[in-house]
Order: sequence, then C-alpha cells, then structure tokens
Amino acid sequence: MKKIVILGSTGSIGTQTLDVVRHNKDIEVLGMTGNKNISLLEKQMREFRPKKVAVYDETKAKELKAAVKDLEVEILTGMEGLMEIAVMEEAETVVTAVVGMIGIRPTIGAIKAGKDIALANKETLVTAGHIIMPLAKKHGVQILPVDSEHSAIYQCIHGEKEKEVHKIILTASGGPFRGKKTADLSKVTLEDALKHPNWAMGQKITVDSATLVNKGLEVIEAKWLFHMDLDRIEVVLQPQSIIHSMIECIDGSVIAQLGTPDMRLPIQYALYYPERRFLNGKRLDFKTLKQITFEEPDMETFLGLSYAYQAIESGGSMPTVLNAANEKAVSKFLHKSIDFLDIYKIIEECMSRHSVCEAPTMEQILEIEQETYDYIESRW
Ligand code: NDP
Ligand code: MG
Repeated sequence: MKKIVILGSTGSIGTQTLDVVRHNKDIEVLGMTGNKNISLLEKQMREFRPKKVAVYDETKAKELKAAVKDLEVEILTGMEGLMEIAVMEEAETVVTAVVGMIGIRPTIGAIKAGKDIALANKETLVTAGHIIMPLAKKHGVQILPVDSEHSAIYQCIHGEKEKEVHKIILTASGGPFRGKKTADLSKVTLEDALKHPNWAMGQKITVDSATLVNKGLEVIEAKWLFHMDLDRIEVVLQPQSIIHSMIECIDGSVIAQLGTPDMRLPIQYALYYPERRFLNGKRLDFKTLKQITFEEPDMETFLGLSYAYQAIESGGSMPTVLNAANEKAVSKFLHKSIDFLDIYKIIEECMSRHSVCEAPTMEQILEIEQETYDYIESRW
C-alpha cells in the first residue's frame, strides 16, 4: 500500500484525488485536511478512515470532533494541524490541494520531512519557488506536478531529456471571456466568471482562469518546475482544452500531451509516477473531434499574463505581491464587493508600489503577503 496525506481533501482536486484512491484500492490515506466543509470531511473520514484530520477553522474543528466521536481519529486544527498532517511519519507523498499561499508552510515542512509532493497548490511555488526547488533537491524529494499543463510537460519530458528541451508551450483555454474586450469586461458578473467552458474547478482558480492570472501563475510555476527562463516559455490559446501543453525540442520536434479535460489523469500520474495506470473515463475520438484551434493570447485585455511577466522580470518578492494581491482581490470579487476589472487595478497598484526584496525568506514572504492584504483592505 502506498501511503499518502491530502491537504485540502474537500476541494475540487482533493475530492478527485480521493476518487483516484477509491478506484485503485492500493493507496492508504493517512491524513486529510479541510477548512469549512466538515460535512463532506466527515463523509470522507467514514469512507477512508484516516488516522489524523486537520480542520483549519477552529470552530468547525470542534463541531467535527463532536460528530465523529465514534471514530478512532485525532482531530487537529489551525496551521499547527496542517503542519502535523504534512509530516505524518509513514506518509510517502503529500498531495497539496489547498488553495492559496496557506500551503507554503506545510509544503516546506513536508519536504524537510522527506515527503514527495504531488503539487496542485501552484500559489506556493509562485511565491516560494526559490526556496522549495533547492530544498526538494537537498532532501532528495520529487515535486510531481498535478496542474494539467505542467503534468503534460512532465509527461512530454518524462524525466530524462530536460537539456534537449528548447522551450515549453503552455496551452490556455482563454476562459469564459475569450474574445471580449475591456469594455465588455466592465459589465461581466461573478456568475459569468464562474462559467468555465471546459473545466469544473474551485472558485478561485476559475476566476483566475477568466482573468488569465491563472496562466500567469502557471508561467511562474513552469519556470521553477522546469528551470526555464521566461524567453523559453510560450503561451498559446487552445480553446478546446484538448492539448494540455507541449515541448519543443532542440531539433524542432514538438511533443504534445492530449486528452479529454479530466484532472484525475494528472492526479493519478503524479501519485504513481513513473507508472501509468488504467483510468476509466472519456477517451479522445479523433474521428468526431473536428478541430483543434490555436490563437494568440490577448495580453492587452487580459492583463493577468502581462503582470506575471512583469513579476518574473522584477523577480525577488514581486511574484509574492502579484499572488497575494490577486488572492485578496479574487476573494473580494467572490464576495461581490468589487468588479471584475478591479482585480487588475488592485494587482497593478500593489505591484507598482512594492520595492522588491531579493530572495525573500519564508518569514519575509508571509510578511509581504500580510502587508499586501492590509494595503488592499485600507484602499478597497
Ligand atoms: P477548492 O476551492 O475546490 O478547494 C480548496 C481546498 O482548500 C478545500 O479543501 C478547502 O477546504 C481548503 N481551504 C480553503 N481555505 C483554506 C484555509 N484557509 N486553510 C486551510 N484549508 C483551506 O480549490 P481547488 O481544488 O480548485 O484548487 C486547489 C489548488 O489546486 C489551487 O492552488 C489551484 O490553483 C490548484 N489547481 C486546481 C485545479 C482544479 O482543477 N481544481 C487545476 C490545477 C491546479 P473547505 O472546502 O473545507 O473549506
Ligand atoms: Mg492548469
């Protein structure tokens, strides 16, 4: 039995990870975490019988404790709880499926404890890639991408040929507002933004896909995962989400990974790497698939990608500011307290007032995150 823990088991990636576990029957889930959705967490506990569970929200943790008195399980709470789950002794792999920068400390803790990371939580790599990648190397652990584009690239490179890769080509669906201009975006609602054409995901990443901030974060994620400079990472729109990403080799050969949009594939690939397993689900049918089309991203309208390029160029702590500003702005948009285009305004303002700190420590990253949140609260 392979032994894993899942940080964020109640989310979109978390529940699909449990689906993969359910079908394979040879993975034991030793620990899981949630935040607010304790009714789902309780169901998951009764099915998968983890030894420890952490609920970030303290009140919810108490409620859960009362509800599962009959189970033999330790209930933890807060960041300490997340940290304890991340380093559980027998666990080989930690699936990081929490949303946002909250994942930084548990991910670093897990690496130090020698765990392989199945990484969905891209915000962690965006803000702390300069800490995480060398740390993973030092502790001899693998960072296995779950994000579909990065999994695609990982599958194309297949661990051996990194120096033969000339560039990577990240595909993007373009989100629900592809083709719209700024004037159109001034009128869009939260409900419009949450209608992703191809993927059913958590709310934050769905909004990030609509702003193209998600693709921007993915460019930064790719830079760290595959040791690529910016000029070797290209983004192309592929609206049908059939090609999940590609690599161009030094001889001009292009290798792509294709499939129906199903996150269980990259999740399962990360859990069993380098082995491939059967996965039930829809297959591509090239006889009925009429076309796969490509477009250039409109970076003047969808500023998320431009901000990411600027953040990489500024370097140091700037990606932290981009990410923190975006997290706070999206949270406000999800609460309907700002408009869609305000997300861009907030990011731009936070980035332009920030003076870059080179190679920030984890403490500095968390301080900058807090400063960014405080500034946004005082202004918006
Ligand atoms: P969801 O919003 O669906 O789930 C987030 C998970 O994190 C839930 O378990 C939630 O708990 C938990 N959580 C939320 N806030 C906190 C907090 N403050 N402390 C501790 N736990 C918290 O997100 P997704 O599954 O969509 O995304 C997870 C990560 O994976 C993100 O980083 C995203 O970018 C990345 N990703 C997701 C993809 C997808 O298809 N969904 C694709 C590629 C990457 P609860 O629900 O109990 O409140
Ligand atoms: Mg992705």
